[in-house]
Amino acid sequence: MQTNDFIELENTYGANNYHPLDVVLTRGEGVWVWDVEGNKYLDCLSAYSAVNQGHCHPSILTALKEQAARLTLTSRAFRNDKLGLFYKKVSELTGLPKVLPMNSGAEAVETALKAIRKWAYTVKGVPENQAEIIVCENNFAGRTITIISFSTEAQYRYGFGPFTPGFKIIPYGDAEALRKAITANTAAFFVEPIQGEGGIIVPPEGFLRQAREICSENNVLFVLDEIQTGLGRTGKMFAFQHEGIQPDGITIGKALSGGFYPVSAFVATEEVMGVFQPGDHGSTFGGNPLAAAVALAALDVLVKENLPARAAELGEYFMARLKEINSPHIKQVRGRGLLIGVELKPEAGGARRFCEALKDRGILAKETHEHVIRFAPPLVITRDEIDWALKHIRTVLTTL
Ligand SMILES: *Cc1c(COP(=O)(O)O)cnc(C)c1O
Repeated sequence: MQTNDFIELENTYGANNYHPLDVVLTRGEGVWVWDVEGNKYLDCLSAYSAVNQGHCHPSILTALKEQAARLTLTSRAFRNDKLGLFYKKVSELTGLPKVLPMNSGAEAVETALKAIRKWAYTVKGVPENQAEIIVCENNFAGRTITIISFSTEAQYRYGFGPFTPGFKIIPYGDAEALRKAITANTAAFFVEPIQGEGGIIVPPEGFLRQAREICSENNVLFVLDEIQTGLGRTGKMFAFQHEGIQPDGITIGKALSGGFYPVSAFVATEEVMGVFQPGDHGSTFGGNPLAAAVALAALDVLVKENLPARAAELGEYFMARLKEINSPHIKQVRGRGLLIGVELKPEAGGARRFCEALKDRGILAKETHEHVIRFAPPLVITRDEIDWALKHIRTVLTTL
């Protein structure tokens, strides 16, 4: 079978809920992936930052194989000998004492929202069904009905109502708006440290610190969605560490498994996680030994290979070189660590055609929103590989 045969199969039998580039991948190793015709590409998306450790990392693969041959699923009706080790590691890395494991990012977010609401009623004393959660415009936190209920993206919502109430939306990066939006019924401010799907939007310096203070002053939880920004991507293990603060809870996912398996978690303080009693919440696959073993190995790779520091150093280099490109199409280059967005001017005709042209030159990048090209390669990328990519990015941005 050739590229077109695979595409036709997908189009014939699949739902039409994605618009992928027409490249059919069959193998990956580190920062490189190969298509069914043997062409090689540099992956500059990393599965939306789920493969920070690089494709098919050998030590995560070993952990997966060994655990898969031993024990995969027990359900939480019984205990297993990997889960506690996973909790301990996540707790040490985040600085938060309690962990609740799930599978997809959206489930971790749903878990955070449930914890926040129950904390509001049982700890803060908000009257029943009155809890409010403040979020930001242009957010992305997944695709469940509750999560799209607080999206400001018309397409994510259209046709999917009625929506879950209880969310208040303020502009991103605006601490004063947060202060004004808080009422006696506010349970939490739930926010991404950098908006990833929203177009790599970096808030003003100090915003997270101010938001943390405002939340503390008002007995409001400060909860961060680190599913995309966490686990080394922005140059620290977690993006909140850039501002020296401690949130009350975070959601993590994506690179938590290095791309091998869906693993996510909500991680929080004793007080917040303390709201859950047996029977309140759960997941058949959440916390299974295969997931825990894979995540333990994936976290070890981030630490042992010093990937957050690598993201900081190489991200700074990559972004500086991108800023030097003299192209009439570029409006702004922004980001942090190896989470970089190149926003094109509206006249450029959309980022998609640039991504197509990059693909033809062996670089896989994806447009986010209409006008932003995201560059987020696996954190194991080398300076030489970045230089190679830059040569092609420069050509595409200056000749197309
Ligand atoms: C990807 C993402 C999610 C959702 O994760 P899924 O695994 O796709 O459900 C939530 N929040 C952020 C910030 C994300 O980038």
